[in-house]
Amino acid sequence: MITDGSPTPVTNPGSERVFTLILTQGPISRVAIARRTGLSQAAVTKVAKPLLAAGYLEESADRERTGPGAGRPASPLQIRADREFFVGIKITRYHLIGVLTDLRADVLARLTWDLADLDPAAIVRQLAAMVAWLRDAEPTFRERSRCLGVAVSGDVDRRRGNVGYSPFLEWHDVPLARLITEATGLTVTIENDVKALAVGEHWFGAGVGVRDFGVVTLGQGIGSALVIDDRLVSGAYGVAGELGHTPVGGEEPRCRCGGRGCLEAIAASELLTEAVREATGDASLGFPNAVRLAQSGQPDAQAIFQHAARAVGRGVATLANLTGPERVIISADNPDLVGFAEFHAEVRRSFTEQAFGSVVNCELVFVHRPLEAWARAAATVAMQSLLTL
Ligand SMILES: [Zn+2]
Repeated sequence: MITDGSPTPVTNPGSERVFTLILTQGPISRVAIARRTGLSQAAVTKVAKPLLAAGYLEESADRERTGPGAGRPASPLQIRADREFFVGIKITRYHLIGVLTDLRADVLARLTWDLADLDPAAIVRQLAAMVAWLRDAEPTFRERSRCLGVAVSGDVDRRRGNVGYSPFLEWHDVPLARLITEATGLTVTIENDVKALAVGEHWFGAGVGVRDFGVVTLGQGIGSALVIDDRLVSGAYGVAGELGHTPVGGEEPRCRCGGRGCLEAIAASELLTEAVREATGDASLGFPNAVRLAQSGQPDAQAIFQHAARAVGRGVATLANLTGPERVIISADNPDLVGFAEFHAEVRRSFTEQAFGSVVNCELVFVHRPLEAWARAAATVAMQSLLTL
């Protein structure tokens, strides 16, 4: 618990907007906040006051003029980064990746453990031990941390705190938030990992200041998430934006979900690796080498990645045609795939062919997000509980 036990003084939609704006785009002057939020300057001053008093905000040391010809300089408002710390954990099929961040999402402690056992109770025990380690890394971390975010792939109902189905972990109906709350005593928020990544991009990444954007992740699975009107789209059952299981192929491969022609069944990294292995006869090839082989112009590998890029482009176009975002952030955990210019060009070509009308203006941004970025995004999800505590 926070030593002074105070709830966050974010108590209404006005203070939520002001706090979020300063958190994601500060330091920013009261005048600029008023302009950006549509609130009056008096209202901004009023909602900032309790946030300043509770130590979440401070006046920046840089002074800025309030406007042309204005006499009195005003200090921009900024977040006090060390006011509170947050723990974020990403659960994968093989690892637990944990970080502790401050209010600027700067990672101050990090830890990766192999998963010993996929049973929910065993993972919760291991996760609780990891949380304890991260919070004990510095004395102030434990005193000033109370919120934990956990990102897990699959069908995750954030509101109910329930994992309906996670294919990689082979979980069905696990009340994960309750189990972790009991094990850690913290305020726990669980979220689908791609949705968590979208929250991280929105607040601290390639989606800052963008009202409508999509995130598409390329890796072991293909995922997507949407932010529309500055809000993450969750859907009635917590499942929305499952781009990986959108049919973009014909009758070809049957997906692990049982569907046909799914994007994930064409472009998931393990399937690409398998295809390159078969084509080259090198059974020991891993995904990084498959990417490098394609990048170096080996014809079979090149053709396999080109085919995948076209499927990704069609998938991104489907997402964009349906929701009309300003930007789609395409994230890969493999750095070579992010640096693979021909792959990007093919994604763009195929996207452009399928994009309807002005949707073609949607910007495609390729970013590298290693596993730690997903844990950091989970910490950002934890940070969102400041708005509801
Ligand atoms: Zn599928």
